[in-house]
Amino acid sequence: MRMTNLLVPTLREVPAEAEIKSHQLMLRAGYIRKIAAGIYSYLPLGMRTLKKVENIVREEMDRAGAQELLMPALLPAEVYQESGRWEVFGDSMFKLKDRNDRDFCLGPTHEEPFTKLCLNEVRSYKEYPITLYQIQTKYRDEGRPRFGLIRGREFIMKDAYSFDLDEIGLDNSYKKMYNAYCRIFERLGLDFTIVDADSGAMGGSGSQEFMVKSPVGEDGIAYCEACGYAANYEKAAAIPTEKDFVEGELSLEKIKTPDVHTIEELVSFMDSEPYVFAKTIIYKADDKYIAAMVRGDREINEVKLKNLVGAVDDLELAEPSVVREITKAQVGFAGPIGLDIPVFADFEVQNMKNFIVGANETDYHYKNVNIGRDFEPTAFADIRVIEEGDACPICKKPIKTVQGIEVGHIFKLGTKYSKALGLTYQSETGEAKTVVMGCYGIGVTRCISAAIEQGNDENGIVLPVSIAPFEAVVVPVNAKDDEQLALAEKIYNSLLDKGVEALIDDRQERAGVKFKDADLIGIPVRIVVGKKCGEGIVEYKLRTEENSVENTVEEAISNAEEYIRSNK
Ligand code: ATP
Ligand code: MG
Repeated sequence: MRMTNLLVPTLREVPAEAEIKSHQLMLRAGYIRKIAAGIYSYLPLGMRTLKKVENIVREEMDRAGAQELLMPALLPAEVYQESGRWEVFGDSMFKLKDRNDRDFCLGPTHEEPFTKLCLNEVRSYKEYPITLYQIQTKYRDEGRPRFGLIRGREFIMKDAYSFDLDEIGLDNSYKKMYNAYCRIFERLGLDFTIVDADSGAMGGSGSQEFMVKSPVGEDGIAYCEACGYAANYEKAAAIPTEKDFVEGELSLEKIKTPDVHTIEELVSFMDSEPYVFAKTIIYKADDKYIAAMVRGDREINEVKLKNLVGAVDDLELAEPSVVREITKAQVGFAGPIGLDIPVFADFEVQNMKNFIVGANETDYHYKNVNIGRDFEPTAFADIRVIEEGDACPICKKPIKTVQGIEVGHIFKLGTKYSKALGLTYQSETGEAKTVVMGCYGIGVTRCISAAIEQGNDENGIVLPVSIAPFEAVVVPVNAKDDEQLALAEKIYNSLLDKGVEALIDDRQERAGVKFKDADLIGIPVRIVVGKKCGEGIVEYKLRTEENSVENTVEEAISNAEEYIRSNK
C-alpha cells in the first residue's frame, strides 16, 4: 500500500475527550473515529488490525473444533422473554419496535438464540457435543461508555456456546476453550492473567476471566505471588482479620453525633479509628430490603451480597426515602439495633467488641455495642471486598491487588438456559435429559485497546507483528530524489513479493514527519532509503528498538522477512 493512497488522518494534538493512552493513540494514529458515545468507525488502519485480531480468534476457535456461524444482531423480543432476560437486561438492552409495533432488540449476548438453534436443529443426542461461535457486533447501552473501544455501546465480540450431554462433557469443552483462549491472547501479544470469576447466584458451576493488568482496568484482581491464586474482586474470598478492641462488655451508650453522616466525619468527631465502627447499608434486593454490615475500614462487596441473598437483579442502594422509613432517621444513622429487616454482617464483624453503630435516630450513634447482647444479625458471611495485604484464601500469604481489563470470559452455564428454553435430548435409554452448556466470550475490539494500552511509548503505538496494521514501511528520505525513490520502490516490491504487508511512504513530506507517523501508527519494521542509497546501504530499524542499523538492501529485506515471520 502507498501512503499517498491511504486514509490515515493522524492528529498532532491529543484529543480532549480521550482519557487513556490507547484511546488517545487510536484517535491520533487515525485508527478510529467517534460517531457517538461508545460508537466508533474503524478507519483503514484500525480495520486492518481488527481483521487480524478476528482471524487469530477464528483460527484458534476452528483449531479447537468450534464451528463458526453468524446470527442476526436484530432479534425479536420473544427470544429473550422466554428466559426472562428481556427484563433482566433492563436499560442496558437496546430495544426497538418494527412497523407493526412488534418488540425487537439488538443482541447484547446470544445464549438464547444459540440454545434455540440447537432446540430446532439438533435431532439426536449423537450430534452432541458441539461448540458453535460467531464473531459479531454486539449492542449494550452501557451506563458509562468510555475509554474508546474498551467500553463501547456497539462492539465486536466473539461469542461461543458449547452443548454437552453431561457435566463431564462440559468440563472437556470448557478446557478446550480455556486452552484456545491462552493461545489467542498469547498470539495477540497480551500479558494476561487468568482469574476465578463470580458465576452468579443462578446456575453456573465455574467461571474464569482473562485479564490484562492495567491501571485503567475497571476490574480489581486479587492475586498471590506465593501460590498463584488469582481471582476477580467480585469472587475473591476475604479472610476475616482481627483488630484490638476494648475487652469485656462495656455498657451500651447512646451518644449525640450532630451533622455527622460519613465514617470519616464520625472518625474525626469521635477521635477514633475507622475499624471501631460498623457501617450498616440498606439495599434493595429484588423486591425486598436488606441491611449489610462491614467494619468501618472495609467496603461491601455487592456481588457477594447479591449471591448470598439469591437476588436476581443487581442490588441497588435503597432510596433515601426508604432508608428514612426503615430506620426512622435521616440517611447516615442506620444501625442494626432494632432494625426489622434482615441484617447480614461480614465475618469480620463477628470479631468486633464495644464498637460503634448508627442508632436509627437522627443525630445519634450507639457506643459499646456488642453482638449477642445488643443485636443478633440474620447471618454472618463473607460480604466484603478483599484488600491488599489480606491473607490469601489458599496459602495465607499476603494478597496483592491490581486493576485489570477483562478481555475474555469463559463460563460453565450448566443447565440455566437449556432448562429455561427446554433444550433436552433423549438418552440411549430413552430418558429425557437436559443439555449442559458453556459460554465463552472475547471482546475483540476491546483486545485492540488492551494491546495498545500495554504496547505504546512516547512516540506512539507499539503493536506486535501479529496485529500491527502493516508489517513494514519503506521510507525514501527525499521523495523528490529519483534514485532514492527507485530503490525504495524496489525494496517495497520485493517485500510484497515475499508476502510482507508493506507500506511505502511516497509522500512529499519531510523525513522527520514520515518517521513520526511510522512510529505513531506502530509499524514494526522500518527501512529508510537515504544518503547511502548509491552504495546500496539502507537503515533498518525495529519499532521496539531505539537505534537503527545499516544494512545492505538484501540484508534489510531478509532481516525484515525473518523478523516478521518469526514474530507473526
Ligand atoms: P464488563 O464486566 O466489562 O461489563 P461483561 O462481563 O459484562 O463485561 P461479558 O458478557 O462477559 O462481559 O462479555 C464477554 C466479553 O466481551 C468481555 O470479556 C469483554 O471483553 C467484552 N465486552 C463486554 N462488554 C463490552 C463493552 N461494553 N465494550 C467492549 N467490549 C465489551
Ligand atoms: Mg464477563
